[in-house]
Amino acid sequence: MAGENLLPRRAALIGAAGVTGTLLARGAAAAVPEIDTGRVQGGRVEFPAWTAPTERPSSGPPNPMPMNERVGFAVVGLGRLTLEEILPAFGEAKKSRLVALVSGTPDKAARIASQYGVRPEAVYDYAAFDRIRDNPDIRVVYVVLPNSMHKEYTIRAAQAGKHVLCEKPMAVSSAEGQAMVDACRTTQRKLMIAYRCQYEPYNREVLRMVREATFGPARFIDAVNVQNQGDGEQWRFKRALAGGGSLPDVGLYCLNAARFLTGEEPVEVIARSFSPPGDARYAEVEETVNFMLRFPGGLVANCATSYGMHESRLLRVHTPGAAISLDGAFAYHDKQLRIAHRDGRAESVDERRIPMQNQFALEMDHMADCVLTDRKPHTPGEEGVQDHRVMEAIYQSASSGQPVALPRVEGLDHTRGPAPSPS
Ligand code: NAD
Repeated sequence: MAGENLLPRRAALIGAAGVTGTLLARGAAAAVPEIDTGRVQGGRVEFPAWTAPTERPSSGPPNPMPMNERVGFAVVGLGRLTLEEILPAFGEAKKSRLVALVSGTPDKAARIASQYGVRPEAVYDYAAFDRIRDNPDIRVVYVVLPNSMHKEYTIRAAQAGKHVLCEKPMAVSSAEGQAMVDACRTTQRKLMIAYRCQYEPYNREVLRMVREATFGPARFIDAVNVQNQGDGEQWRFKRALAGGGSLPDVGLYCLNAARFLTGEEPVEVIARSFSPPGDARYAEVEETVNFMLRFPGGLVANCATSYGMHESRLLRVHTPGAAISLDGAFAYHDKQLRIAHRDGRAESVDERRIPMQNQFALEMDHMADCVLTDRKPHTPGEEGVQDHRVMEAIYQSASSGQPVALPRVEGLDHTRGPAPSPS
């Protein structure tokens, strides 16, 4: 029992402080109750509720899989996203573990490997990448490189027998994305695109309200994902590496949200784009895009994305009974979900708070789950190809000034696999 050894340990600690004799003399030690209430039940540690039923129940200990049973990941590309979000997220993952790194910078890779417990022989450079084939610890390769490199490393990973989790946007065109899907199909490897918002609890709560029509059917979506981009030398301003400007980088989140919330595919797009004249950063890619998507069920989504505005990441769904607002919808942290609706003679604005979970850990664990249970990922390669098709129509409309029609697709969620299981 977890609590059995507690009393002697406490007594020893008290003894070290030199007061044991006093306490024992007063009989206080014998009165110390058993404190550690944790018990192993069905393979997981559980604690009894410590708050009254009026309080939100705690989510309890996370119950991760034992390390040696988890799915091993190799992360390719040690840039900002990898170092700032993905590697720390392994610490919150339950089914995934970091086993290998791929980088072109040996001293950075060695430092990161030692920080995260990756064996030196599991650090590869790009030239030696295909040797991952001989490392059975690696089951998934997570591609976190500039967009134009996703195709090559996805296909090489699949040909080396590994499943692939690839960052968004999946490529720089729908044709490249389709080639990635085809290569993974031929090699019978899973391909998932890292659409983290589709695994994140606040976005999933909005999805639930839309799909269940909690406040009536969704009629209009407003989605804004803008940021003020700096240095012009970064790969994001180079068309050959990025494939476009703000649209594939951050506007993609608005597009993907409109698609996953409705489950439908747009049948028409109308777009305008703008770049400040004379700003050398926008010689190759656009700064701002405003696009409207019309869905077959009648919903319209109005989306705005930019590299030239202060950070704002807002998703708003308008229904007959309520306006649902998710501020920070596409951000890593800090989300606010507010629902405005009638309450008798008043207008009420409810703020809904959901326990935060690390969306990168959730996304990686979903991939691990798909490998362990042989399921199709919820956001497979086909989901990424469809976003590229719509983005191509957006660019076409922005350059022609005309609406662009897209093929009508029957049914819901035709590019998605089964929903992720609750964590
Ligand atoms: P970054 O510039 O910080 O890192 C890119 C990495 O690729 C670096 O380690 C760099 O050394 C390496 N690299 C290899 N060859 C390169 C080349 N020829 N040119 C430039 N870099 C090269 O970029 P990042 O922000 O980490 O983005 C990486 C990927 O992750 C992109 O596809 C991006 O769209 C995606 N991303 C996703 C999210 C998200 O929230 N899911 C957030 C940021 C970035």
